[in-house]
Amino acid sequence: MPVEFLSGKHAVITGGSRGIGAATARALAAAGARVTLMGRDQEALKKVSSAIANSEIAICDVTDAASVTRAFEAAHKRAPISILVNNAGIAASAPFLKTDDEMLERMFATNVMSAFRCTRAALPDMLAGGWGRVINIASIAGLKGARYISAYIASKHAMVGMTRALAAETAGKNITVNAVCPGYVDTEMTERTVANIVSRTNLSEKDAFAEIAKGNASGKLIAPEEVAGTVAFLCRADADSINGQAIAIGDIG
Ligand code: NDP
Repeated sequence: MPVEFLSGKHAVITGGSRGIGAATARALAAAGARVTLMGRDQEALKKVSSAIANSEIAICDVTDAASVTRAFEAAHKRAPISILVNNAGIAASAPFLKTDDEMLERMFATNVMSAFRCTRAALPDMLAGGWGRVINIASIAGLKGARYISAYIASKHAMVGMTRALAAETAGKNITVNAVCPGYVDTEMTERTVANIVSRTNLSEKDAFAEIAKGNASGKLIAPEEVAGTVAFLCRADADSINGQAIAIGDIG
């Protein structure tokens, strides 16, 4: 496998302004892809993009259909899209009885509707080009239950369901659709979770981090680069036959 095994491919990464999305953009660019980073924060996107050769940004709020259309048209003009990483996402926590419609709608708009919408915008290029990869950054929360995050868990299970359903439709077309399902990753999202625990309990920040890390089988947080590495692997030619899978990172089988 040549080092630049994604040379000639165009990857769009939603939520590319930080965390897992930014690490994924770096990994795919290192493999030779041109990348388009999408997100809402222009300055943050520019900062990440400035350190990645052959990258561009497109402002996109994945919860806004018109914004998605505009951003994907701009990306398509640059080059047909061959890889889509649906990474933009949010988390929120509440006991089940306090999980109101607003939280559910927010979770599904950002974590599920967005992935449908972005994939509808990118898939025609993949079908026309006869090759493609859709990679959904779901979560361990897409594979099992946990306390106090039912809206997030339901949204990530939906994302895994979408992955499996679309994979069945693209099978045999040289387009694979997979989900990557990490446990707790060392990003701002986890920092916010820790801050939330600190504000609601007597735990110190250090102890809250330790509690969170215990949720991963290894007992430590996952590096965003580990998630990015799995995404890059799924883009390789020798991953052609991996389709419709939900690959857990940080958990045991
Ligand atoms: P961060 O909070 O660090 O980054 C989230 C990214 O999503 C940002 O780039 C943000 O950009 C973008 N985003 C959020 N809402 C929108 C929106 N409406 N439109 C466009 N972009 C948006 O999170 P992580 O890097 O940790 O998480 C990335 C993905 O990985 C998420 O889907 C998350 O659920 C998932 N995940 C994270 C885990 C973790 O422990 N951190 C574990 C398992 C899965 P901006 O706000 O600038 O627009």
